[in-house]
Amino acid sequence: MTESELIARYFARPVHERQGIGDDCALIDVGDRTLAITTDLLTENTHFFADVDPTSLGHKALAVNLSDLAAAGARPRCFLLSLSLPRADPDWLDAFSRGMFELAQRQGCELIGGDTTRAPDIDGRPGPVTICVAAIGEVDRASVRGRSGAAAGDDLWVSGQLGDAALAIAHHRGQVQLDEAAARACRQRMEWPQPRVALGLALRGLASAAIDISDGLLGDLGHVMERSNLGACVDVRLVPRSDAVRGVERDLQRRCVLAGGDDYELLFAASPARRDAIEAAGRECCIAVSRIGSMTAEPGLRLIGDERGFDATLRGFDHFADAAQA
Ligand code: ADP
Ligand code: MG
Repeated sequence: MTESELIARYFARPVHERQGIGDDCALIDVGDRTLAITTDLLTENTHFFADVDPTSLGHKALAVNLSDLAAAGARPRCFLLSLSLPRADPDWLDAFSRGMFELAQRQGCELIGGDTTRAPDIDGRPGPVTICVAAIGEVDRASVRGRSGAAAGDDLWVSGQLGDAALAIAHHRGQVQLDEAAARACRQRMEWPQPRVALGLALRGLASAAIDISDGLLGDLGHVMERSNLGACVDVRLVPRSDAVRGVERDLQRRCVLAGGDDYELLFAASPARRDAIEAAGRECCIAVSRIGSMTAEPGLRLIGDERGFDATLRGFDHFADAAQA
């Protein structure tokens, strides 16, 4: 059973809100406002290593949620924090909260509640740290956007560069030997993702659909294709990547940019008539935006500039399918 099958079978129910399960954010109408709500959970050994810098972990726990708000074009407003910790370590908590509040302040987003529990020991060893953040933002009702609004012929764009976080993991696992500067740069990108909130807001009324890339470009593009009922064509050569990624052999490079997780860049669709405005939005937000392909009426994914073609291993990370294969 895959993650999406699990959710579809046991949890997806019709809802009366503006938008329920299936997008980066749920949307609820409250008076004349629309709130975007999202939650993401980070668990030790799956999403981070036990020895990770707790400052970066505090940052990342909030950042991944703000990234979902960015996809929806929402302005962050507040968040909830739930923690399960094996012990109350003042140094760890000090660093964790510092990392989190630094980002929260920068984004004008306040912590309004949460829950805290102790993780019981497992076989005499401390249980895992689990962090769950739920974030709430506001969207303009006139420019609501999710994964489902793309049209055939729309351009496909991505922000920033892809693949660095996946390359950091490959380096950590000893699958590749990066030089020190490249390893540091990739690790920085993995531990300190920058949610593209300003770009998400600037794209209101320009992008027809958007998603944040958390599980790999092609997997997340698959969600846009499915929800928009369209196919897509991607020129692999146009997918933006750093010098560190460019420096590794072709197969790993391809895997990192197409299927690597944890990028937290935005993937979005927009009419070709919006090209100039999108370039201007990128400049205004000081973030590169690259056109990598288009949405097609013909179903399925077509990769160009790539001799290998699409295969199931590029579909992106799935917590359950991947565990079953391991
Ligand atoms: P993201 O990668 O943006 O966090 P996912 O693709 O993981 O989102 O999730 C797909 C959709 O399923 C989202 O709308 C999410 O809110 C929803 N979802 C995930 N887990 C559950 C759950 N246990 N119960 C209800 N909805 C869920
Ligand atoms: Mg998302």
